[in-house]
Amino acid sequence: MKVKIPVHKGEELTDQIEDLTYQGNGVMKVDHYPIFIPEALPEEKVTAKVTKVTTNFAWGQVLNWQSKSSDRVADPDQRYLQTGIAPLGHLKYPAQLKFKQKLIQDLLQKAHLAVDVAPTMGMDKPFQYRNKAQVPVRFIRGQVETGFYKRGSHELVPIENFYIQDPVIDETIKIVRDLIRQYHIRAYDEAKQTGDLKSIMVRRGYYSHQVMVVLVTRTTKLPHQAELVQGIVDQVPGITSIIQNINSKPTNVVLGRENHTLWGAETIHDQLLGIDFTISPLSFYQVNPQQTERLYQTAIDYAELDGNQTVIDAYCGIGTISLAVAKHAKKVYGVEIVEAAIQDAKLNAQHNQIANAEFVVGKAEEQMAKWQAQGLKPDVLIVDPPRKGLDERVIEAAGQMAPQKIVYISCNPATLVRDLQRFMDQGYQITKPIQPVDQFPQTTHVESITVMSRS
Ligand code: SAH
Repeated sequence: MKVKIPVHKGEELTDQIEDLTYQGNGVMKVDHYPIFIPEALPEEKVTAKVTKVTTNFAWGQVLNWQSKSSDRVADPDQRYLQTGIAPLGHLKYPAQLKFKQKLIQDLLQKAHLAVDVAPTMGMDKPFQYRNKAQVPVRFIRGQVETGFYKRGSHELVPIENFYIQDPVIDETIKIVRDLIRQYHIRAYDEAKQTGDLKSIMVRRGYYSHQVMVVLVTRTTKLPHQAELVQGIVDQVPGITSIIQNINSKPTNVVLGRENHTLWGAETIHDQLLGIDFTISPLSFYQVNPQQTERLYQTAIDYAELDGNQTVIDAYCGIGTISLAVAKHAKKVYGVEIVEAAIQDAKLNAQHNQIANAEFVVGKAEEQMAKWQAQGLKPDVLIVDPPRKGLDERVIEAAGQMAPQKIVYISCNPATLVRDLQRFMDQGYQITKPIQPVDQFPQTTHVESITVMSRS
């Protein structure tokens, strides 16, 4: 059957914007056929030009606005919208929070699940929240620049104020960039596979104020290393650790496996809910510490822990949730697929004198079955999976181990809704409204927490 596409490339359309997609694009519809239009917001009337047409949808570009939304930020910095630093930077913050709540509500409705979604827990100051930055170093128009890639490209847009990062991190990047310029250190050239410095990563502890600078180089060579290190030590406030990371691969992965400590400590420290964590260059660590604490505290409250429960933390990473929960539980078991993360988790448990947490390397779907075979009977299961959600086997094992409560932390509402339906098939009910927590203000990421009980 030939489908009739109601628009053609180059056509100009004037109409109302009906919706905002999970990627932050406005949606105009012609006979139910959607046209995605970047930067347009719901309730705005725009004239747009169709730029690309496919069978199921088209792309468009705003030519002009007939009317603007009252939720629109008057004059957003275009570079933030272009680069993906702040793809929702044109939407006022209260509207961003509603957008995230509605995204979950809409998906639940589509799945015919009658579940409430609470208003999104937002930040009082929804910018300068990130404790980590990774920026490419490139040579543009005669000088070395640091910034961010234009969305969907490898074209660097020079930026000094990154808006969503800790300002000390912005300051640090500028100091390093200026030293690179001063000593004429060559920036990486992706096309030619030449140059020395590929990118700069900076982490800063929210509570500790310790700063780690990681210089990512193409080879072991780092010209003017001594001067560069001295300059950073002299100028960066709170500098604790300078690391060289070697990444010879021409891929999008920022860090390689090899690290050399050039100055100071190999790691930095920071705290979450009063627990001290050691963070190495390659460790995964939550990037919004303030909201992470609120997220974890909500998980602890939702699980109603009183010190007597056995808890499984599947997808435990470096054990941040497990260790936060351990104080409120009899025993915590964590499983995680990345071996280095489990090593960190074990060390973090030791350093904090937490003796009731046990960590295992493995796939959640396999380890759950093993624990079940060993007769482990958890009272609470906490899951915090990656975007693709839960493996079916995790849900089956949960059904058989039958914990009284399941706490689901999700970074992807689509897979969350799918998995909630599966848990309901296993006899679970959603007992409280789903709570979105805004971990990434100004972006389209939607994090939420759901609690289920056995009926
Ligand atoms: N709960 C942690 C980490 C959550 S991110 C925190 O809050 O910091 C999700 C984690 O799941 C990652 O660390 C990833 O390595 C891990 N992971 C991915 N697939 C997995 C699987 N099949 N089994 C166990 N862990 C997995």
